[in-house]
Amino acid sequence: DKMDGSLWLDFDVQPTASPTPDADRAAKLENPGFGRVFTDHMAVVRYDQTNGWHAARVEARANFPLHTATAVLHYAQEIFEGLKAYKREDGGVNLFRPDANAKRFRDSADRMAMAPLPEAVFIEAVEQVVKIDRNWIPGGEGSLYLRPFMIASEVFLGVKPSAEYIFAVIASPVGSYFKGGPAPVSIWVSETYTRAAIGGTGGVKCGGNYAASLRAQAEAIERGCDQVVFLDAIERRYVEELGGMNVFFVFEDGSLSTPPLGTILPGITRDSIIALAREAGRKVREEAYTIDQWRADAASGKLKEAFACGTAAVISPIGKVCSNHGDFVINGGQAGEVAMGLRKQLVDIQYGRAADTHGWIKKV
Ligand code: PMP
Repeated sequence: DKMDGSLWLDFDVQPTASPTPDADRAAKLENPGFGRVFTDHMAVVRYDQTNGWHAARVEARANFPLHTATAVLHYAQEIFEGLKAYKREDGGVNLFRPDANAKRFRDSADRMAMAPLPEAVFIEAVEQVVKIDRNWIPGGEGSLYLRPFMIASEVFLGVKPSAEYIFAVIASPVGSYFKGGPAPVSIWVSETYTRAAIGGTGGVKCGGNYAASLRAQAEAIERGCDQVVFLDAIERRYVEELGGMNVFFVFEDGSLSTPPLGTILPGITRDSIIALAREAGRKVREEAYTIDQWRADAASGKLKEAFACGTAAVISPIGKVCSNHGDFVINGGQAGEVAMGLRKQLVDIQYGRAADTHGWIKKV
């Protein structure tokens, strides 16, 4: 145990005996896309009621052999995180706010009645994977997407919190999300499905939220849109968030608004944008906003821009909103200046091209 009382685990590091040959890795890094290419290693930590968190290892990435009655396969007691490692121009590596992901992971574990993972262990596991697989980080505007996750691993068909868990971190090199600059996205307003209710799990990152969003996302694609946007589950008119991104509105007076926390995921990009915009002297309101007001403000010109934000794409301008009640366009369907300015500010901090005045960067 460390002096601050947090549980500390030493990772047993066993590099793979058969690393991907350099030429194969280079070929995979050329056009990795998103989430289909994986690095050579993973970090794994186990939990049971006798030993607590133990058996921390960094080892060759491998499959998990799971009994067919493993709890996660039946009741979806599972949580995850997503963050990125960025290669700096000096060759070093930056993690962006890993402490915030560690904190959110604990909050997710708490909501899902899972064993809380000490934040120091979460961060150490992420750093270990970045270190051992650092030659998998693409240069340029690419990055290494890190996926920490935890599954209920007890073999038992009773419905109750699992007594055993596996925490792991895998890594996937990803290319620049947008080739040739961010293209505005079109979004479909789901009036059939909701994502989260008060008292539910919308505010945490559990796999079940995403399983339940897929039908709505499929509907968005059927309607020719890129992404779905969800409304609140009670009045069915307050804008909440996209399937995997938070949303911001930019008004003619230069102020911003974004839906308040509660049933939405507390995005780390969202939080960072609020900080940057306020420092730039903008008013930012965390305020409920209806789909009807959005439509009216877009028509009157009061609304200048709308954008979505999250780790994967940083900031995506929203060009068009479609629904069963008709479509409307924002900013002539073009990327706005405020969205693009905030995007550049954030990306420059992440890649170490701008000063880290907030203590958001952890160098690895
Ligand atoms: N909302 C949802 C539902 C998400 O899955 C994500 C991605 N984690 C976000 C918002 C954005 O969060 P972040 O900025 O922390 O990536």
